[in-house]
Parts: sequence; C-alpha cells; structure tokens
Amino acid sequence: MTGLATPVGLGSTLVDGSTLVDLGLYPEIQRFGARDISACFSCGTCTASCPLSQTDSTFPRRMIRYAQVGMKDALLASKELWSCYQCAECAETCPTHAEPSEFMAAARRYAIASYDKTRIARTMYTQPVAATVLAVVVALFFALFMYSAHGPQSGESLAIFEFIPEHLIHDIGIVVMIIVFLAGLAGVGGMARRIARREGVGWSTVFGGRAALTRSAHAAWEAIGRDSLGQVRFRQECAADDVPVALPRRRWLLHALTMWGFLGLLAATLLDYGLAIVGIKETGAPVPIWYPVRLLGTVAGLMLVYGTTVMIIDRYRTANRSVKRSTTADWMLLGLLWVTGVTGFALELALYLPSAPAWGYWVFLLHVAVAMELVLLAPFMKLSHAVYRPVALFFVALAQAPREGDP
Ligand code: SF4
Ligand code: SF4
Repeated sequence: MTGLATPVGLGSTLVDGSTLVDLGLYPEIQRFGARDISACFSCGTCTASCPLSQTDSTFPRRMIRYAQVGMKDALLASKELWSCYQCAECAETCPTHAEPSEFMAAARRYAIASYDKTRIARTMYTQPVAATVLAVVVALFFALFMYSAHGPQSGESLAIFEFIPEHLIHDIGIVVMIIVFLAGLAGVGGMARRIARREGVGWSTVFGGRAALTRSAHAAWEAIGRDSLGQVRFRQECAADDVPVALPRRRWLLHALTMWGFLGLLAATLLDYGLAIVGIKETGAPVPIWYPVRLLGTVAGLMLVYGTTVMIIDRYRTANRSVKRSTTADWMLLGLLWVTGVTGFALELALYLPSAPAWGYWVFLLHVAVAMELVLLAPFMKLSHAVYRPVALFFVALAQAPREGDP
C-alpha cells in the first residue's frame, strides 16, 4: 500500500506508515543523466519492443514508475535494473520520447552512487569537472609517488625496474587492491542485501541443501558464465542495430573484446608477478613473443586497444542509437582503458628495441600510474558494472530457476 503524507519539499522522505516515498528521486536521477520521464504514461510499448522482456511484462517501465512515484528503495532493490544492455530499442518505439534506455542507464549510475557510501561515485557521475580533476590528481599522485623513489635510467637496455623499483610497484598495487576490495565489497554487498531482502532470498535459499546448491550453481553459471563472460544474451537478444553493422563493429563484440582484453592483461600481470615469486622468471626479463605470459599480454592488449578504439570512434560519431548520448563517465572509462592498452604496447616496443629509448621510461611511468588509477577508481566509476551486473543477474537467474516441487 502506498500513500503520501503532506509534501515537505523535494528530496524529503515522506512516511505513511507502510511505504517510504522520496519525492526527490526523479530529479535526483535526472542529475545522473535521465531525460524527461514525466512524459511516460506506462503504455507498455517499450516492454513490447525490448528483446529482454519476454518473461517480465513490466520491464523496463516498472523502473520508470518507481522513479515517478519516488519508490527509491524498490528501485535500488531491483535486480532488473542490471538486465538492460542499453540497446535503445525501447527508445525508438516510445511514443512520448521518454528515452527509457537513457533512464535505465542513469538509474544504474544512481544506484552505484547510492550503494557507495564514500560519495566518490556520486562525484564521478554528477560533477564532470570535479571528476576530471580527481582523475588527473590521482594519476599525478601515483606518478609522482613512484618517481620520488626513482633510480637511474640505463642507456644500454631499458631497465624499467631500476628506474622504478619493482617492490614499490607491488606494494602500491597491494594497497590499491585492498582498498578496491573493501570498497567494492561494501557497495556490492549493499546491493545484494537489498535485492535479497526484496526477493525473499536468504542463506538457506542459496546454500541450504543439495537442491538449493544446484539452483545456485546454475544461477551463477547463467549470470557469470553465459551472460557476463560469454555475453550470450547481449549477443543473441540485444544485438539489434538500427542499421546492419559488420561483425567487427558490433556492440557485443567490442564489449566482449574490451572485457576479455582487460581481464587478460590483469591475468598476465598477476602471472608475471607469480612467476617471479616462484623464481621461474624475473619480472620484466626479456622473453620471446611466444612465451605464454607475454603472448597472453600481447593478445589481450590487442583486444583491449581494438575494442576501446572502435568504441571511442563510435561514441564520437554517435554511430548507433545506444551511444546517442555520452557522459563524462563513459569517456573517462574508455579513455583510461585506451591509455592503459596503448602505453602497454608502446612499452613493449621500447623493451624490444635494440637501444634503450629514453621515452620508454616515461611511458612505463605513465602506464603504471594510469593502470593503478583505473583499478583504484573502479568501484566508483562505470567499470564497477563488471561486478554489479553479474551479482544482480545471479538473482535474476535464481528467480527463474525451478524450485523443488515446481511442476
Ligand atoms: S517509456 Fe515510453 S514506451 Fe515505455 S511505458 Fe513509458 S511512454 Fe510507454
Ligand atoms: S535499452 Fe534495450 S535492453 Fe534496455 S530496456 Fe531498452 S530495449 Fe530493453
């Protein structure tokens, strides 16, 4: 039951004894990029056109309704928010131009900012100038901090770990990982708690007995294996473009290449570190191109650079309806990923040149500083969807999995 007490102004929380209503919710989501959803009259056309709505006759308009009436808790506990791949099929058919796909994207930004108690994510999404300054300051901090401990620049070979000590990079990396883990856990844990409460999912639902474990394993496979890593729904159901697009430019492929490229580079970095720990290969020691870790890094770097380059071009040219509007957060993520990939390749080139070019040392410093920044800011920027989405999709898959006793 929902009822409103006397309004006391936008942004207030009004209580009628059963439902919390936040009249500031809609204008707040507009700050995150939503268009004029007051035009939406819940006609359902977007539901009919959405390729992902077959099993939910209220998707995505229910989310818009929550925002219109101020049901903040319901919105933040909606697992369906993360089902949307922003194909913008719904925006094409909306009779009132309420831009439901833009709303879904803005609502996800709003949700990330709401789960993050540090308010850094809110700044990153709603204050473009402050977000840009923060990004520059963080990169400069890492670069200057590492440079403060720098050693000589050998001219005979590119001795990057004599220039910036390897142990310093590892120590900073460990601190960054701990911060990211704690911040990420707080945010994702907050979202999971909200969804679980709303869905009536408890520990026993997930882990209580063999049948529950089987359902949970199936849901995890659907969410992480098929949807997130395999991009199956993105590829099969949400790949419609307004004009036919050649395979190398398709959204799902660019997204998959970027994601796999990023994960591959992360894996190559960790493997390189691991090989040094067990004494197989010193970090940074020259190895042939076919050496497995180097090969992994090279292939992953190519995927990342290709994916981000084409995505940047497509956004710049607004090549399809899903990139009709871009936010600072979109550009920042693509920019940081692109710089990380390109500087990685430039560094590899410098490492294998016969002489040691002086620029190689500065590219190395830039590469490490930007990579550190990318990881440190991950919980507060768009990259965090890489964790929020699979967790929410786990609940989606869990709700769809048959329970014991179901016909
Ligand atoms: S967003 Fe548009 S298409 Fe969807 S219910 Fe509202 S008015 Fe209809
Ligand atoms: S953007 Fe695509 S996936 Fe998202 S609600 Fe609209 S039609 Fe559905």
